[in-house]
Amino acid sequence: MSDSGTRRPEPQRDSGARGPAVDSGGAATDGAPGPAEVSAVVAGFDEVYGAEPAGVWAAPGRVNLIGEHTDISEGLVMPLALPHATLAAASPREDGVLRLHSADVPGGVVELRSDALAPESGAGWAAYPAGVLWAMREAGLAVGGAELHFTSTVPTGAGLSSSAALEVATASALNELYGLGLTTERIAQLAQRAENGFVGVPCGIMDQMASACCTAGHALYLDTRDLTHRHVPFDVAAQGLRLLVVDTRVKHELGDGAYANRRAACERGARALGVRALRDVPYALLNAALDKLADNPAVQRRVRHVVTENRRVEEVIALLDAGDTRAIGPVLTAGHVSLRDDYEVSCAELDLVVESANAAGALGARMTGGGFGGSAIVLVEEAAADPIATAINEAFAMAHARPPRIFPALPAAGSRRLLLR
Ligand code: ADP
Ligand code: MG
Repeated sequence: MSDSGTRRPEPQRDSGARGPAVDSGGAATDGAPGPAEVSAVVAGFDEVYGAEPAGVWAAPGRVNLIGEHTDISEGLVMPLALPHATLAAASPREDGVLRLHSADVPGGVVELRSDALAPESGAGWAAYPAGVLWAMREAGLAVGGAELHFTSTVPTGAGLSSSAALEVATASALNELYGLGLTTERIAQLAQRAENGFVGVPCGIMDQMASACCTAGHALYLDTRDLTHRHVPFDVAAQGLRLLVVDTRVKHELGDGAYANRRAACERGARALGVRALRDVPYALLNAALDKLADNPAVQRRVRHVVTENRRVEEVIALLDAGDTRAIGPVLTAGHVSLRDDYEVSCAELDLVVESANAAGALGARMTGGGFGGSAIVLVEEAAADPIATAINEAFAMAHARPPRIFPALPAAGSRRLLLR
């Protein structure tokens, strides 16, 4: 996806041969912000604004377990929140001024007028939080000035949705500072509106819903057509499993044009099949649908991905509901193959993660997020986590690729308040 903001310098820590194969992921032990991170964001707020914040809110990044590139076709997705989260320390301001500062980007405070926000303001990274305030005001909500200071343990630009974490942390803070009484679903919609309408990234609703609504130990089944959702048990730790996140630390820039192209192909396919969106093509009628698209093999492949991927979401839900967590492994890998061969959004590094992990005995693996770089997920037996991480690292070394960053992720809670004065 495009990035109209300032990019954080990438963390240079690597999980190569000398360190532990599995990186604990930053703060605390599992990437989750703990008391030390809350104290740090409060102290940072004080340093920047010379006062204590009224409160601190957290919103996590996410990985998508299954249901990739289905949301533009109004389909099914199943993300889970990472322990890694963005913290917003915040206070309201009575003069209508919006002041924004992030510990993660160089540069000082960005100052804007809350009543004069416009999408073309060129605010860089600050467009994400400013866009949230803009979206709230556009929706007629009575929200004025504020000052916010952000810290984050979500890797930026790794396909783990640091942008949604930033938006949802902002929206959660403004919601309570201004007593708006918004539901988490509404917060997600406003955050998506900010990213679409203010930042200018045409993303779906998945990332924001995951960041706002997830619960610990669960994945979030979400129907992106009507936002119906359900928390599906995915307690990997209790099952003796680990979910590894592998950040390839590459981002191939062909991304944006390719996303527009895929969207157009899905729309063309839906038109040719006489449905509103591809989610309306039942799996049972897939072959008949593909026959109708025989004159356009590329559209045929895109349609096959979307229809089979929606089916895979249903399969994963059924397996998780039955407590058969291990059995989702092959479904994840099948999803990767479909993204690689039919939707064509994978890349050599993501394929290498999946192939090396599966060859080393993973239960299953797939790219997660938009593709063309970013991150993959690998489901493993707990005892196999280290050897499989080592095997992935070795495969990257053999391919002369930069070592990926590998960390375990327990399904964590969505946005929440951590402190209120
Ligand atoms: P992803 O959401 O996959 O991490 P994006 O390109 O969508 O990648 O969003 C990353 C952008 O979001 C960054 O380049 C930056 O502009 C903004 N961003 C994310 N987290 C922070 C943060 N903690 N502080 C400042 N900006 C951030
Ligand atoms: Mg993003």
